[in-house]
Amino acid sequence: MKKSNISLYLLAGLGLMATACNSGNEKSTDKQGRFISTAAMDSSIKPGDNFWMYANGTWNKNTQIPETESGVGAFHDLILGTRQNLKTILDEISAKEHKAGTAEQQVGDFFASGIDSGAIDKRGYEPVKPLLDKINSIVTPADVLTFVAERQTEATPLLFFQYIAADDKNSTQYLPNFLQGGLGLPDRDYYFKTDASTTETVAAYKNYVKKLLVLTGQDSTNASTTANTVYDLEKQLASAQSTNVQLRDPEANYNKIAVADAAKKYPRLNLTSLLSIMKINVDSINIGQPGYFKKLDELIASTPLDTWKKYLQVHVLEDAASSLSSDFEKASFEYDGTALGGQKAMKPRWQRLISSTDMLLGDALGQLYVKKYFTEDAKKRMMELVDNLGKAFETRIGNLDWMSDSTKKVAVAKLHTFIKKIGYPEKWKDYSSVKIDRTKYFENIVALNKFAYDSEVNKLGKPVDRTEWGMTPPTINAYYNPGFNEIVFPAGILQFPFFDPAADDAINYGGIGMVIGHEMTHGFDDQGAQYDKDGNLKNWWSKEDLAKFTARGNNLVKLYNSFTVLDSLHINGALTQGENTADFGGVAIAYDAFKLTKQGQDTTKIDGFTPDQRFFLSVAQIWRGKMTDASLRQQVNTNTHSPGMFRVNGPLMNFEPFHKAFDVKEGDKMYLPDNSRLKIW
Ligand SMILES: [Zn+2]
Repeated sequence: MKKSNISLYLLAGLGLMATACNSGNEKSTDKQGRFISTAAMDSSIKPGDNFWMYANGTWNKNTQIPETESGVGAFHDLILGTRQNLKTILDEISAKEHKAGTAEQQVGDFFASGIDSGAIDKRGYEPVKPLLDKINSIVTPADVLTFVAERQTEATPLLFFQYIAADDKNSTQYLPNFLQGGLGLPDRDYYFKTDASTTETVAAYKNYVKKLLVLTGQDSTNASTTANTVYDLEKQLASAQSTNVQLRDPEANYNKIAVADAAKKYPRLNLTSLLSIMKINVDSINIGQPGYFKKLDELIASTPLDTWKKYLQVHVLEDAASSLSSDFEKASFEYDGTALGGQKAMKPRWQRLISSTDMLLGDALGQLYVKKYFTEDAKKRMMELVDNLGKAFETRIGNLDWMSDSTKKVAVAKLHTFIKKIGYPEKWKDYSSVKIDRTKYFENIVALNKFAYDSEVNKLGKPVDRTEWGMTPPTINAYYNPGFNEIVFPAGILQFPFFDPAADDAINYGGIGMVIGHEMTHGFDDQGAQYDKDGNLKNWWSKEDLAKFTARGNNLVKLYNSFTVLDSLHINGALTQGENTADFGGVAIAYDAFKLTKQGQDTTKIDGFTPDQRFFLSVAQIWRGKMTDASLRQQVNTNTHSPGMFRVNGPLMNFEPFHKAFDVKEGDKMYLPDNSRLKIW
């Protein structure tokens, strides 16, 4: 299921779904250093020259990215460990029979249906044949739209994304949001850039499309022509799309419109019929990117029907490929895994299956996971940490020299209103109405997608349910959701290296403390700061304070624009502004909270490091990671998060206590004089 996460501000650009792996070179706690891995460090590098490299250099030098991965590191190790735990659960329950409709039966049988590659291979692409036949029978542009609307109800979006969320300007009510979509490449920019690596990616995409068509019996020449036709249509769609930087502007992407008016504005989209098929019965909708929908409206009429049919055929195959027989799966991997991610070999089937189980039956699997691997004690400890971080943040706001007292009051009121969710939801989704069959993997996916879609549209007209979660419990990530004004920490992230009940405070505050501070700051980054304490997109800033905040933000953009990742590839400061702001705040708030602990007041060394040094080393080691060039390029081009090294060095070079802790001096590469250090929160 494709999903647009535009409304959640995540900790990291990866979740349980992401590539995972164990480096094999490092254990999370090695013999020389407990909690801080001294073996990973490179003492030949001066901490003040490149702190990330000082903390992770030996690991970085000695670690190979395994063939089945596009990256490796602290996050990845934790993801793999968590997957192993989930496998233990799944192996055990899928081997037994359970009462129909129970979490055990659904999760166990779904897993069993997907692990049986022999049965899946035998079916080839037969599961999508009815859809392909339907496309063949299309005779009018209206039929194209009907087909698209029907696919939406199975949570396989074509041409646009749709999701239901709290109305940005009336956060107690749900509003359906329509967003640009329909591309096969990761971002609209890929259709217009002409550099060598983009050209290669485009060629790989066309080749992928061609392969899918050949696998359904087309001859190679026709398949090539079709791939070009589909690409050209996508390029036209892309030409009207907002850039990923423009997508970060909440006001620009809020265009609520009465359905009757939208129907007039986009006459060829048959909106009334579209919404009716999509079971969306409302007076108003949000059109995220009106320019895109205007273009789509034109293209529906101006593009030959035959081109549309080819487009639909290709996209149906792309959506289904990873759930079909192994030849389709392989084609999908060669594009998604290898061309885009630099991954050389596919992950074992069970790992891929865990991702899809988590995605489709997340609450059922999540229940079983927390029962076995999460303790109430961890939740209690986490609650204390969140409270301490909140207090530290409040003090920091009080001490800001650039903000007026009146704006500070509103900021603190927003901080006090945060909803805090830790571990797992208070109520679980009940999937028992979905029949999961041990022998029908593809049909199970369709049924679960339908269920997911229906659960979403059934919210319309009901009060906004703020108990809902946007991540599953085993996910190694966290988020801030501006519409709910909430910070959310799934059980998955409450593990080492982020959190360990046995570790000293420096480790936990530099780890999960930094994560908590990061999520809290998202409520006050350039996007989050536009929402008030009730989750409404509504200005609460004085004009002067907002101007000062914006000026600081602009300096942050400039700083990150100056960081080089690969040869000529620079971080996009505007795309990553919110995340970088959250990293700056995260480190500062976590540090202040750490200084309130007993160890924070102490100077006793552990493993040769002062408490402050351990705090900063913990920050640097949670962002230990290495990616393939392809994956790094894709991240820089499309992801709102900066690569790990810059998530550490960027904030620390601007942070006085870091300079003190490691005696950073003029002449050191990370040294910045006091008056040029950037401080936002
Ligand atoms: Zn974030």
